[in-house]
Amino acid sequence: MPPVYAQLKFKKSHTFQAITTMKRRITGFYEDVEGYFVAMLECGHEQHVRHKPPLVERPWVLTQEGRDSRIGATVDCSQCDIELAGVTDIDMD
Ligand SMILES: [Zn+2]
Repeated sequence: MPPVYAQLKFKKSHTFQAITTMKRRITGFYEDVEGYFVAMLECGHEQHVRHKPPLVERPWVLTQEGRDSRIGATVDCSQCDIELAGVTDIDMD
Protein backbone atom coordinates (compact mmCIF):
# COMPACT_ATOMS: atom_id res chain seq x y z
CA MET A 1 0.00 0.00 0.00
CA PRO A 2 1.68 3.25 -1.11
CA PRO A 3 1.44 6.31 1.15
CA VAL A 4 -1.52 8.63 0.63
CA TYR A 5 0.44 11.41 -1.07
CA ALA A 6 1.64 8.99 -3.75
CA GLN A 7 -1.93 7.99 -4.47
CA LEU A 8 -2.95 11.63 -4.87
CA LYS A 9 -0.08 12.30 -7.28
CA PHE A 10 -1.10 9.31 -9.33
CA LYS A 11 -4.71 10.43 -9.46
CA LYS A 12 -3.76 13.92 -10.60
CA SER A 13 -1.44 12.89 -13.42
CA HIS A 14 -3.99 10.35 -14.55
CA THR A 15 -6.65 13.06 -14.67
CA PHE A 16 -4.59 15.52 -16.69
CA GLN A 17 -3.97 12.90 -19.33
CA ALA A 18 -7.59 11.83 -19.43
CA ILE A 19 -9.55 15.08 -19.82
CA THR A 20 -9.09 18.80 -20.31
CA THR A 21 -9.00 20.99 -17.24
CA MET A 22 -12.29 22.37 -16.00
CA LYS A 23 -12.66 26.15 -15.95
CA ARG A 24 -14.55 27.53 -12.98
CA ARG A 25 -15.49 31.09 -12.08
CA ILE A 26 -14.18 32.78 -8.93
CA THR A 27 -17.02 33.89 -6.67
CA GLY A 28 -15.01 35.39 -3.82
CA PHE A 29 -11.96 35.25 -1.59
CA TYR A 30 -11.13 34.73 2.06
CA GLU A 31 -7.92 34.72 4.07
CA ASP A 32 -6.85 31.45 5.69
CA VAL A 33 -5.20 31.00 9.09
CA GLU A 34 -1.72 31.26 7.53
CA GLY A 35 -2.49 34.59 5.88
CA TYR A 36 -2.87 33.21 2.38
CA PHE A 37 -5.88 34.06 0.29
CA VAL A 38 -8.20 31.36 -0.93
CA ALA A 39 -10.42 31.74 -3.98
CA MET A 40 -13.91 30.31 -3.68
CA LEU A 41 -15.11 28.82 -6.95
CA GLU A 42 -18.63 28.49 -8.35
CA CYS A 43 -18.39 24.71 -8.15
CA GLY A 44 -17.93 24.84 -4.38
CA HIS A 45 -14.22 24.04 -4.45
CA GLU A 46 -11.50 26.34 -3.15
CA GLN A 47 -8.06 27.22 -4.45
CA HIS A 48 -5.12 28.97 -2.81
CA VAL A 49 -3.94 32.08 -4.63
CA ARG A 50 -0.52 32.77 -3.19
CA HIS A 51 1.76 35.69 -3.89
CA LYS A 52 5.25 34.27 -3.38
CA PRO A 53 7.76 36.07 -5.60
CA PRO A 54 9.75 35.17 -7.58
CA LEU A 55 8.06 31.78 -7.92
CA VAL A 56 4.46 32.95 -8.02
CA GLU A 57 3.71 36.58 -8.89
CA ARG A 58 0.20 37.56 -7.92
CA PRO A 59 0.55 41.02 -6.39
CA TRP A 60 -3.14 41.68 -7.13
CA VAL A 61 -4.16 39.21 -4.43
CA LEU A 62 -2.76 41.47 -1.71
CA THR A 63 -5.27 44.28 -2.24
CA GLN A 64 -9.04 44.36 -1.93
CA GLU A 65 -9.28 46.07 -5.32
CA GLY A 66 -7.12 43.43 -6.94
CA ARG A 67 -9.17 40.59 -5.52
CA ASP A 68 -12.44 42.26 -6.48
CA SER A 69 -11.18 42.62 -10.05
CA ARG A 70 -10.67 38.85 -10.28
CA ILE A 71 -14.17 37.89 -9.18
CA GLY A 72 -15.83 36.32 -12.20
CA ALA A 73 -12.50 35.32 -13.75
CA THR A 74 -12.03 31.64 -14.56
CA VAL A 75 -9.36 29.32 -13.19
CA ASP A 76 -8.55 25.65 -13.70
CA CYS A 77 -10.20 23.54 -10.99
CA SER A 78 -8.16 20.38 -10.57
CA GLN A 79 -10.60 19.09 -7.95
CA CYS A 80 -13.40 19.12 -10.52
CA ASP A 81 -11.12 17.27 -12.94
CA ILE A 82 -10.52 14.56 -10.39
CA GLU A 83 -14.21 14.17 -9.67
CA LEU A 84 -15.25 14.24 -13.33
CA ALA A 85 -12.65 11.69 -14.33
CA GLY A 86 -14.06 9.35 -11.74
CA VAL A 87 -10.58 8.42 -10.62
CA THR A 88 -11.83 7.97 -7.07
CA ASP A 89 -13.08 4.61 -8.33
CA ILE A 90 -9.59 3.37 -9.14
CA ASP A 91 -8.66 0.36 -7.08
CA MET A 92 -5.37 0.63 -5.24
CA ASP A 93 -4.11 -2.89 -5.09
ZN1 LIG B 1 -14.27 22.52 -8.72
